[in-house]
Amino acid sequence: MKTLVLGAGIIGISTAWHLAERGHEVVVVDRQRDAALETSFANAAQISVSYCEPWANRHAPAKLLKWMFRNDAPLLFRPRADWQQWRWGLQFLGQCNDAAFERNVQQLVALGAYSHAALKDVVAATGIDYHRLERGIAHFYTDQKAFDDGAVAAGLMQKYGVDRKVVSREELFAIEPAFRNFADIVGGTFTASDESGDARVFTQKLAQLCAARGVQFRFGQDIERLETAGGAVQAVRIRDRDTGIVQQLKADDVVVACGSYSAPLLRQVGVDLPIYPGKGYSATFKLKQPAGAPFVSTIDDEVKVAMSRLGDELRVAGTIELSGYDATLDSQLARDRCRMLAARIEKVLPGVCDTRLPEAGGDPKFWTGLRPATPTNIPYIGRTRVGGLWVNAGHGTLGWTHGAGSGKAMAELISGRKPRTAFDFYGYEKGRRGFDGKGEFSLNP
Ligand SMILES: Cc1cc2nc3c(=O)[nH]c(=O)nc-3n(C[C@H](O)[C@H](O)[C@H](O)COP(=O)(O)OP(=O)(O)OC[C@H]3O[C@@H](n4cnc5c(N)ncnc54)[C@H](O)[C@@H]3O)c2cc1C
Repeated sequence: MKTLVLGAGIIGISTAWHLAERGHEVVVVDRQRDAALETSFANAAQISVSYCEPWANRHAPAKLLKWMFRNDAPLLFRPRADWQQWRWGLQFLGQCNDAAFERNVQQLVALGAYSHAALKDVVAATGIDYHRLERGIAHFYTDQKAFDDGAVAAGLMQKYGVDRKVVSREELFAIEPAFRNFADIVGGTFTASDESGDARVFTQKLAQLCAARGVQFRFGQDIERLETAGGAVQAVRIRDRDTGIVQQLKADDVVVACGSYSAPLLRQVGVDLPIYPGKGYSATFKLKQPAGAPFVSTIDDEVKVAMSRLGDELRVAGTIELSGYDATLDSQLARDRCRMLAARIEKVLPGVCDTRLPEAGGDPKFWTGLRPATPTNIPYIGRTRVGGLWVNAGHGTLGWTHGAGSGKAMAELISGRKPRTAFDFYGYEKGRRGFDGKGEFSLNP
């Protein structure tokens, strides 16, 4: 069976790997020159099975209003004349209640656990080296009320089998001494089983291994259209970015894994999914004092920013901005957000990194990426109602965490098997197509 995988981010490459492992003939198409050059390029590096709470919770609407005019706000909604943005926003508000939050957490934990196991299997099978640190993830608080709320969240995660512990300030410093000098910390939480590593390095190395296994890569190709006939996908029209040459690619199955751009592509064939870009930023700083830098990947609750050590650098990333497909770093808002990352890390870990801005002689690597966000934070993994057309997109804040598992699950579904997880796959909801209501999988519902 021949499968076209559209998109060479962590999701597309992981899908290609698992399909190739199951004996499929695979072709990957992407507009970039290599894998992982868009959203999978410089994220916060966390494999965060336990810190997976969606942004939509009962406190989010009030926070959104409060933060609307602050350029350094962790979550920023800037209204535009864009129906998709408004519709997404309304659906997001619909998820801001306790019942939806808990349902979404359950799904995200299920996919996270499945994916973590899949990642470990891929690493064991390939030996890929990607600055992996199996040192857990910590979350620190500088405000007592936020810490108390954090303890409630930890309780909810424990209910779903995640071992997130509430730790005192001193316990946190024992886990990660690098924060000892930051006096504002009041306490934290910690999950030993989480980990971190560079998503770009992992994805590019896995792409190379895919190629060595016979996966074909068509880089530098714009995917322009999905063409259908008789309710099934017939071909994918691509255009070479250098030569302008147009080609039609055909296959038995087509997987759309184009991150935020999956939504407009799928809408061409009547598959309308609420995936909207959630712009985020990262800064990668050279370590000046490696001995003072954290090994435990950590979330700073006050500014909702995560930091991960990647070799001799520290990656700091976060914030989300719902304002369309603008991926520029060259705006006042983008500059303010990048400066915030540098200023914050200097405050939390004084003197540890070279946080000087370029104008002051520093060389920070600032980056922005568009998270493929859904109102629930849950990705769409499964089949569409167009024959032969599959989707693996909408991974939002957790695409690196869920990457290996999403790829494996997609390959299982295409191969006609039910993935071993309690996650609800798109197009296979109980009582609808795919599962027969007793949880059994049927290929021809
Ligand atoms: C600041 C930030 C921090 C983050 N931190 C974390 C973290 O710590 N842990 C975590 O789990 N996740 C994190 N994420 C989320 C994670 O990075 C994303 O969910 C993930 O990278 C999405 O992968 P993807 O393969 O779906 O998309 P992408 O990596 O964007 O891949 C999609 C590919 O499709 C291609 N494409 C799209 N449209 C077309 C077209 N028309 N023609 C040709 N090619 C096309 C693109 O070139 C791209 O290569 C973070 C994201 C951001 C922005």
